[in-house]
Amino acid sequence: MKAAYGFKDSKGEFFIVVDIDQCDGCGACAEACPARVLEIAASDCDHLSDDETARVREEQLARLRSACAGCKRGGSKKLPCTSACPRGAMSHTW
Ligand code: SF4
Ligand code: SF4
Repeated sequence: MKAAYGFKDSKGEFFIVVDIDQCDGCGACAEACPARVLEIAASDCDHLSDDETARVREEQLARLRSACAGCKRGGSKKLPCTSACPRGAMSHTW
């Protein structure tokens, strides 16, 4: 099961996707994030599980594209959050 956090508009789809079957809530992605985008909390799919997993902070959802712009400068695909994840549980749609 995957949970997607973000938004889409005329410029594209800007979501961080967490595979909640793989994520064990270790917090490495949140610690690696320089912009406090991520937290460990119950997912949007928490009706399926009590486990806490990585997710985007509520206040960052609508501004995710700009919040992540620093890491993505120059078209970089090597991001602190996804690089820190030992389980390959996190991906970005843009
Ligand atoms: S791309 Fe950068 S700012 Fe965005 S969630 Fe990952 S580490 Fe945080
Ligand atoms: S680093 Fe990976 S496994 Fe750990 S909380 Fe983040 S997404 Fe989940």
